[in-house]
Amino acid sequence: MAERFFTRAALRTLDEAARVAEDLTSDHFRLTSRDWRHMPYEIRTLRELAAWEHPGRAFAHLVRYDRPLEAKGSGGDARHFYRICLHDGNILAAAGGGHKARLLPFLVYVLTHELVHVARFGKFAHGFLSNRHLEEERRVDRLTREILAPCPIPGMGGVLGRFCPEEAGATRREGDPRGRQILPMQGGRSPCPSTSTNAGNATR
Ligand SMILES: [Zn+2]
Repeated sequence: MAERFFTRAALRTLDEAARVAEDLTSDHFRLTSRDWRHMPYEIRTLRELAAWEHPGRAFAHLVRYDRPLEAKGSGGDARHFYRICLHDGNILAAAGGGHKARLLPFLVYVLTHELVHVARFGKFAHGFLSNRHLEEERRVDRLTREILAPCPIPGMGGVLGRFCPEEAGATRREGDPRGRQILPMQGGRSPCPSTSTNAGNATR
């Protein structure tokens, strides 16, 4: 089946979703722009991804790259940067198409989930190479729900109810098809592609 990619209109919605997700995550963790400079991230859509960054069956995949030593301007520079790799087709399918009213809350949800991962890695609340993926995913699910529950974007309640319900952490089981259905970031055999260790070792 041919891949589906975001249209120009969908990319504009993505920009808006990214701003909202970063603001909400910053507010929750009390992060300043200085904090983000120490854990820089970028968002890439399917067309922009290298083969090894492909999110597979997931909606998104987080990759951490080490910065080459020569790219570091000073000792205060971040040693790593994060790339949020989005799967346009999987997102469009889950959001019911590219219409902004449905796509915006869903993208805010996907990006907030990934930014909670980045914030926790950046704040050393969770090690990128830790093998406690499932536990971390439950925590990220809970935090994502806490952050987004008060969010007034129309449709957010429906997105959370469908993809990040209250009982998600309790019912999630590796290999459980019900768990896979309610926890969209999951893909492949790893509980969460966001924390795959092979990605952690990539250098760029
Ligand atoms: Zn995750």
